Amino acid sequence: MLVAIGTVPRHFFLDKAFEELAYTDQALPIAVEQTISQPFTVAYQSILLQIKKTDRVLEIGSGSGYQACVLAALGARVFTIERQKELYLRLKSFLPHFFAEYKHLIEPFYGDGYLGLPQYAPFDKILVTAAAEAVPTALCEQLAVGGSLVIPIGDANDVQVMCRITRISDSEYHKETFDTFRFVPMLKGKT
Ligand code: SAH
Repeated sequence: MLVAIGTVPRHFFLDKAFEELAYTDQALPIAVEQTISQPFTVAYQSILLQIKKTDRVLEIGSGSGYQACVLAALGARVFTIERQKELYLRLKSFLPHFFAEYKHLIEPFYGDGYLGLPQYAPFDKILVTAAAEAVPTALCEQLAVGGSLVIPIGDANDVQVMCRITRISDSEYHKETFDTFRFVPMLKGKT
């Protein structure tokens, strides 16, 4: 995990004004009032997901693309959805230039993450990087049996509890709860 975090240069994902803070352990602003997750949070969610090489991972909330690159550095094949067109377009144009080695591992999509990506399901792992009030059913349905979904659940104006939902069988899920975090809200639709 630490090797993966160390492999991905975080300053590439930030505007010049924040470059100096790239290697401090804090969330920082990116475009359209969104944030790049704190490295601790990226590591925390990645560890809960127990990423294995060749896992097919769906990420909701591409943002800067930093988390997607860390997942790719762990050997995962990443499908990542963003609802803000500007961020989606930035990531799509940026990946091939700076991260040629991850280009074939990361596929960005523009859309509403509440719907997931049914045409690419099932996924071994699903990661949500924005705060949801409840677990979106479509995402549970797109998990492979044995797979897990990591998602911060709670009121977007308060803290959220990190949850891990594991699909035990076609119809059974197991839920675990972990520490509290503060994420930007998961919003419906796309802009
Ligand atoms: N993983 C990102 C963190 C991004 S912050 C990184 O490493 O930088 C959360 C992101 O989720 C924001 O970019 C926000 O626009 C996006 N988001 C919020 N609701 C969404 C939804 N329903 N579908 C897809 N993306 C969403």
